[in-house]
Amino acid sequence: MKRGFYIGRFQPYHNGHQSVLEHIAHEVDEIVIGIGSAQLSHMVDNPFTAGERVLMITCALASLGCPFYVLPIEDIKRNALWVAHVQSMTPHFDLCYSSNPLVVQLFKEAGIKVLSPEMYERETLSGTEIRRRMLNGELWRNLVPPKVVQVLKEIDGVERLRQISRQD
Ligand code: ATP
Ligand code: MG
Repeated sequence: MKRGFYIGRFQPYHNGHQSVLEHIAHEVDEIVIGIGSAQLSHMVDNPFTAGERVLMITCALASLGCPFYVLPIEDIKRNALWVAHVQSMTPHFDLCYSSNPLVVQLFKEAGIKVLSPEMYERETLSGTEIRRRMLNGELWRNLVPPKVVQVLKEIDGVERLRQISRQD
């Protein structure tokens, strides 16, 4: 039984994350998906709650064909202790998938095998770019799975992002 770990903030969950997870699904028996900075929401860089992100990911991966868990993980703001914190919140995993340099470094230092999946269309498949497009009224729906469009509509996510970006 081989379990893989994948972590992100998923603000929002997009087609780059989906492509990586579809790839991981062929390599492991189970996937643990960690939602980082779980305590943050209603901020321009972190607009959605952990629960909303759980919903986006769970709905988008309904037909993945590989069992997965989606677990919110709060920040502890101590990088040196972060891997132990993650491990205390997740089922045991054998390897970690990440392309984030800090995440790669922390897991390697902890003696955990790390694989870095290739980036898919990074100029557009990026949380930062998708939030920018939402704020500017540009096209973004083609960059996330259809189920994520549906969840964002249900929670009126784009309007929330615009509202919290305004000055008083
Ligand atoms: P943000 O711009 O808000 O940081 P992001 O697109 O980088 O958003 P994260 O939630 O920070 O998304 O990333 C989670 C993981 O997904 C990271 O390991 C990141 O490298 C990876 N990732 C992000 N975008 C892509 C992509 N287009 N292709 C492959 N992996 C990606
Ligand atoms: Mg990122």
